[in-house]
Amino acid sequence: MGKYDEYREKVVEYSKMVFSKGYTAGSGGNVSMLIEGENALAITPSGKDYSRFTPAEICIVDLDLQPIEGTMRPSIETGMHAAVYKNRRDVNAIIHAHQTFASVFALINEPIPPIFDEVLFNIGPVVDVIPYALSGSPELVENVVSKLGNRCNCYILQNHGALSLGQTMEKAFANMELFEKAATVYHHALCTGRAVSTLPESVVTPIFQLLQMGQDAEIKRKSEI
Ligand SMILES: [Zn+2]
Repeated sequence: MGKYDEYREKVVEYSKMVFSKGYTAGSGGNVSMLIEGENALAITPSGKDYSRFTPAEICIVDLDLQPIEGTMRPSIETGMHAAVYKNRRDVNAIIHAHQTFASVFALINEPIPPIFDEVLFNIGPVVDVIPYALSGSPELVENVVSKLGNRCNCYILQNHGALSLGQTMEKAFANMELFEKAATVYHHALCTGRAVSTLPESVVTPIFQLLQMGQDAEIKRKSEI
């Protein structure tokens, strides 16, 4: 067993789950994990079909994008993933995909407000829109970094797709599922033409504080490794 094997295997497992959920097609999207105790990440390679990754093809690179292990070229979005890990020390796993209803909001350029308790508890009070820039460009990385300070766990990438963060890969995936469910229902609600009710501020503020306390605890845990 190599020292990165457990990360490689988990990235492959969840890449296949993202594909089987229909959240992406072909080689679109990318999945990564931060390597515990190192400034490095395991990430899917560029241009390979999601359903056919093997653990040996997962790339290990440091947060300055220098290769550590792997024979394939890392995803074009590796810079975006590294920037999230540098700027959100509570995050240990990231999924980027192109699922349908999140993509609707990527086209109409509208954030998703707080509409369900379970989304509020796990993602935060808003799924905000990160302004468009070309995939893989430094501008896209800058635009992502400019929104991370809201401390939420999901984002819409304008005219592109979706980004989900988590303290674990399991949570990043669960957040992606919640995000797509909320986007689907919110879309259907908007289609009725009726007013959409959102959660009251008296609930949003304290629940979001709980989420942030969990993030602070993870940042403290990692700082003591
Ligand atoms: Zn993409």
